[in-house]
Amino acid sequence: MKNWEENVRRVVPYTPGEQPNQPDMIKLNTNENPYPPAPGVRRILHEMNTDTLRLYPDPAAGDLVRAIASYYHLDESQVFVGVGSDDVLAMCFLTFFNGKKPILFPDITYSFYDVWADLFRIPYERPLLDEDFRIRKDDYLRENGGIIFPNPNAPTGVEMPLKDIEEIVKANQDSIVIIDEAYVDFGAVSALPLIGKYDNLLVVQTFSKSRSLAGMRIGLAMGSPVLIKYLNDVKYSFNSYTMDRTALAAGVEAVRDEAYFRETCSKIIETREWTKEELKKLGFSFGDSRANFIFAAHETCPAEELFRALREQHIYVRYFPKGRTSNHLRITIGTREEMKTFLAFVKKYLSNR
Ligand SMILES: *Cc1c(COP(=O)(O)O)cnc(C)c1O
Repeated sequence: MKNWEENVRRVVPYTPGEQPNQPDMIKLNTNENPYPPAPGVRRILHEMNTDTLRLYPDPAAGDLVRAIASYYHLDESQVFVGVGSDDVLAMCFLTFFNGKKPILFPDITYSFYDVWADLFRIPYERPLLDEDFRIRKDDYLRENGGIIFPNPNAPTGVEMPLKDIEEIVKANQDSIVIIDEAYVDFGAVSALPLIGKYDNLLVVQTFSKSRSLAGMRIGLAMGSPVLIKYLNDVKYSFNSYTMDRTALAAGVEAVRDEAYFRETCSKIIETREWTKEELKKLGFSFGDSRANFIFAAHETCPAEELFRALREQHIYVRYFPKGRTSNHLRITIGTREEMKTFLAFVKKYLSNR
């Protein structure tokens, strides 16, 4: 080993879900939205004057921040935006988790949290989910350097009731509590109404799932003006121009079209509830997902076997091989047609094995 290697920041990186690209594939592996973005997004990108790309974008992302603030009836000083919520969450870890006490997040959750904690050398503990894959609220009522979890949780889809979230936020006024609401628009209750009441609460959301813009990279955090100011101070110390002109323009159009947003979210919720019924008939069990995916285990067929069989058919779902999740598949909700094809194959496969 050369000496310079001693000075390298070595990390075990996050592994994103596969992004295969086959014309006939059914892609149910990374929780993308099966519907296109709002029509206004297409129009604004089509009309975009590319001459403006020689100029830097607005570092404050003013138009997008205003559009989001107006949609959620907030003040602009309560909104922060970034390049997907991964960028926003990384900024949050860097900004708020600087204590000596360990931060807390569940053992089974978004697998980026431990990667950021390792990257930024933040100590952490991971309280176990219970037997039914629920977050145990009481695990978060003890000393800590910060708290983060998704609601609904990923990859389980299970929601924590708002009153439990409030209890956690209230009991932890000396640390920052971050609720990652990547999937909240698919029928869960948002903690957003609590940000006016607790200045230690930050709610993070994304345009990648419910607003069909995973390819555009837009995420946001909402919280008290003092939290947003600290986030901006760190952002401006790192990269002032995080969001590009196309993302800013597309984001504004996506938030403005509330009718389209509601319509596509309801279609996904309906398809999810129908898929749950069909999966039950086929012998699967799962928690009551409020997200755009179902985390399911089959009574006899091992998850890995089914994962491989589906993959051969170019039907992609997500499989987490390690530990307690190794007999589950996380199945993203696609269109009704995609789910029919998926279920038909699963039914045929199970009856022939
Ligand atoms: C998808 C996801 C994110 C990241 O989304 P971006 O595409 O970076 O906005 C963050 N947290 C959870 C729990 C997610 O599932």
